[in-house]
Amino acid sequence: MLVPAPGAYLVDETERRGLTGRADAVALPESTAEVATTIAWCYEHDVAIVPRGGGTGFAGGAVPLDGGVVLSLERLTRVRAFEPLLWRLHTDAGLRTADVRRIARESGLLFPPDPGAGEQSQIGGNIATNAGGPHAFKYGVTGAWVTGLEAVVPPGEVVTVGGPIRKDVAGYDLKSLLVGSEGTLGIITAAWLRLLPAPEAAFPVAAFYADTAAGCAALERVLGNGLNAATLEFLDAATLELAGRAFPGDIPSKAGFLVLAEADGSIDEAASLRAELADVLGEDSLGVISPEGSAVADLWRWRDGVSIAVGTARGGKVSEDIVVPLDRLGEAVEETVAIGRRHGLVACSWGHAGDGNLHSTFLVSPQDEEELARAELAAEELFALAARLGGSVSGEHGLGWVKRGQLDRQWSRRALELHNEIKRVFDPKGLLNPGKKVAYRT
Ligand SMILES: Cc1cc2nc3c(=O)[nH]c(=O)nc-3n(C[C@H](O)[C@H](O)[C@H](O)COP(=O)(O)OP(=O)(O)OC[C@H]3O[C@@H](n4cnc5c(N)ncnc54)[C@H](O)[C@@H]3O)c2cc1C
Repeated sequence: MLVPAPGAYLVDETERRGLTGRADAVALPESTAEVATTIAWCYEHDVAIVPRGGGTGFAGGAVPLDGGVVLSLERLTRVRAFEPLLWRLHTDAGLRTADVRRIARESGLLFPPDPGAGEQSQIGGNIATNAGGPHAFKYGVTGAWVTGLEAVVPPGEVVTVGGPIRKDVAGYDLKSLLVGSEGTLGIITAAWLRLLPAPEAAFPVAAFYADTAAGCAALERVLGNGLNAATLEFLDAATLELAGRAFPGDIPSKAGFLVLAEADGSIDEAASLRAELADVLGEDSLGVISPEGSAVADLWRWRDGVSIAVGTARGGKVSEDIVVPLDRLGEAVEETVAIGRRHGLVACSWGHAGDGNLHSTFLVSPQDEEELARAELAAEELFALAARLGGSVSGEHGLGWVKRGQLDRQWSRRALELHNEIKRVFDPKGLLNPGKKVAYRT
C-alpha cells in the first residue's frame, strides 16, 4: 500500500534537535514479497527509499532527507516460528522489541538486548542499528543474538544469510554486514534470533559518589575484582540533577555520580554477586542501596525514563553516543561538561559505563536556531574527543545523518574506501537511505 507521507513518518528522535524530513509517499508493505516489489519499482524509477522501523533512532537514520518513499516495516509483525525448547525465534522485522522480549520471557527465556524505547522500536530497527542497551555489558549487542537474516537488496531481490544455526563461517559474513547497516545496504524483512534460559533472579545495586573520579574508580574496581555484573550504568552530576527528582529512593545530598549495577543468575548466585558488588561499590561511596521486590522495577523504569527527563528540561537535546575505553570514561564525562560550557550550553552525560558508552548531551530549545547551531558545533568537539581518547563516534546509535562523515576521524583512508565500495556493491544507484552512514566528508 502506498499513501502520502504523514508527518509522523518524517521524523525520529532527532526531531528534538530540529531535524524533519520530506517524503513523497509512505509504503506499508505486508510481506517480504511486497517489500521486494516496492524496492524493484523504486530502483527502476530512480526513487530513494528510506527504511523505517519504530522511528526511535537518535541519528536521523529513518528521516527522509529529500523526498522519495519511506518504507515502513510496521505491518511485518508475524512470528514465523517460536521454538522455546530450541531457544530460538524466527520473526518478521517489524515485531516490536518489547514483544520479542515478552514472547521469550513467557517461556522462561531471555532475549538480552534491551535498548530503551522497546515499546516503540522494532527488532528490524535494532538489527539495522546493532542496538545496545544496559545489558549489552554482559550479553553483547543485538548482532550477537542474530543467527540469520532475510533481506531485500537492490534491485529488489530477497536474500537469506544464516538461519536457525548457531555457527556459520562458510562465506564472507554478509549477515554481520547487514547488522548495523542502518538501511543503506538492504531492507531487513525477517530474522532468526537465539535466546537464553532467563536468569532466575536479577538484583540491582545503586551506589552514589561525590564526583566522577570516585564513580569511575568504583567502576574499574568492579572489573578488577572480576565481578561479572549484568549491567554497569552511570549518571553524572548534571543528569542526576535533571532526572533525580523521580528517583525511587533518597539521593545523598552531595551525590555527583551514580553507578547502577545488576547481579543476575540463580537466586543464590545473584544474591552473592549483589553482596560482592555492594561491597566493592561501597568503598568511597556516599551510600549504596539494593532495592528488592517492586522497587526493582521502579528503579529500572526510572532509568528508562532518564533520556526523556533530560530532554524535557529545555524541550530538546543534542545527544551523541560516543564510546571510549573504560579507563578514559571519567575524562569523557568531564570533557562533555567542559565542551558544553565553552559553547554556553548545559551539558550532561549518562549511559552504559561498563561499555565506555556515554550519552553525551547538550540541552537545547528546538526553536532556538542559534542555540542548535552551537550544540552542533559542540557535538563536533565530542566526536573529536572520542577519536582523541581512542574511542568511536558511535557506540550504539550509528552514524545516520547526524554523524555523516565522522568516520574519517577514526578510520584510515583505505578502510573508508572499502566502506564506500561495500555500499556501491549492494546499492549501485545509491538509492537506499541516501545521505546516511556516509563514511567521510568530501
Ligand atoms: C528513550 C530511548 C532510549 C533509547 N535507548 C537506547 C539504548 O539503550 N541503546 C540503543 O542502542 N539505542 C537506544 N535508543 C535508540 C533506538 O531506540 C535504537 O536505535 C533502536 O534500535 C531503533 O529502532 P527503530 O525500530 O526505532 O529504528 P528507526 O529509528 O526507525 O531506524 C533506525 C535505522 O535503522 C533503519 N531501519 C529500521 N528498520 C529497518 C529494517 N527493517 N531494515 C533495514 N533498515 C532498517 C532506518 O533506516 C534507520 O537508519 C533509545 C531511544 C529512545 C527514544
